[in-house]
Amino acid sequence: MKPFEAMIADPALTMTEDKLKILQVNVGSLCNLACKHCHVDAGSRRTELMTRETMQHVLRVLPNFETLDITGGAPEMNPNFRWLVDEVARSGTHVIVRSNLVILKEDGYEDIPEFLADRKVEIAASLPYYSENDCDRQRGKGTFKAVISMLKRLNDLGYGRDESLTLDLVYNPGGAFLPPAQSDLEAEYRHRLREDYGIEFTHLFTITNNPIGRFGEFLRRTGNFDRYMKRLCDAFNPATLAGMMCRFQLSVGWDGRLYDCDFNQPLGLAIDEPQNISELHHIRARKIKFGNHCYACTAGSGSSCGGSTA
Ligand code: SF4
Ligand code: SF4
Repeated sequence: MKPFEAMIADPALTMTEDKLKILQVNVGSLCNLACKHCHVDAGSRRTELMTRETMQHVLRVLPNFETLDITGGAPEMNPNFRWLVDEVARSGTHVIVRSNLVILKEDGYEDIPEFLADRKVEIAASLPYYSENDCDRQRGKGTFKAVISMLKRLNDLGYGRDESLTLDLVYNPGGAFLPPAQSDLEAEYRHRLREDYGIEFTHLFTITNNPIGRFGEFLRRTGNFDRYMKRLCDAFNPATLAGMMCRFQLSVGWDGRLYDCDFNQPLGLAIDEPQNISELHHIRARKIKFGNHCYACTAGSGSSCGGSTA
C-alpha cells in the first residue's frame, strides 16, 4: 500500500488552513459504554479526564475559533463538563457536544438535556443504525431503546424541531465496510425514525470506521485488517482531500496535548509545536501528521466528524 501522504499531489493540502474553524477537545476516555467501533478505546475503567486548568487554556485560545466541539469518552462524565459548557456558551461561541445519549438516562445526568437546550448547544448523537439488533450488537444490550427514549425527550425540548436546537445523528458501519451515501441514508433514517417512533432530527452524518483503537483490534483479531485497509485504499477519492477535517481544526487531548484530529490521539501522533495547549499562543498554519489510517477519511465520499466531505 502506498503511504497515505504520497497520495496527496498538492503540497498545500498537506497543511492546515491559516484560519481554523473548530477547536475539538477530548475531555476524557471515561465512558458508560464500550462500543465495538470505538477508536479511542473508551470505557468505564478509563481514568483520564481533562482538568479544569487545561479547560481554562481551552477558553483562553477559544476566540481564535468559531466552534468548540466537545467529545470523549462520554464528555458528560467529566466533573467539569457543565462548567466548561457554561463558560463557552456565555462567551457566545457555538458549542457541539458529542453524546452517546445513553448516559443521560443515568443517575446524576437526567437534567443535562434541559441544561444543553437552555444554552442552545448542538448535540451530535451516535446512532449506528435505526434497528435495535444492529445498534445493540455494536454498542451493548439496551442501548437502542435508551437512545430512542432520549431522542423523544430531546424532541419534546425542541431539539430537531426548533431551528435553534440542532440534533445531529451519527451513523457508522456495523463492520468492515464503507458507509452508504449520506443523503440516501439520511432520508432512510428520517423515514424510519418518523414512522416507527415519531422522532425528528436535523442532519445525519455518516462516518467511516477508522482502523485504530478497539475497531482496529477487532479487525486484527478477525483477520480482516489487511482486507479493510485495501478496501479503504482502493476507494481513495482525491476530491475529499480539500475537505479533510484536520485542515480546519485543532484537537486537544485530555492532558492538553495537541493533535490534528481525534484519530491521531490514540496513535500518539501529536503536532510538533507547541506540544501542549498551555504553550499555545499563536495559531498558525501547520503541516498535518498523516498515517495510513487517514485512508478512512478519504475513501468514497470522505468522512469527518461532520459527515461526508465530497
Ligand atoms: S464510541 Fe463513544 S459511546 Fe462508544 S465507547 Fe467510544 S466514546 Fe463511548
Ligand atoms: S485521520 Fe486525522 S490527520 Fe488523517 S486525514 Fe483524517 S482528520 Fe486528517
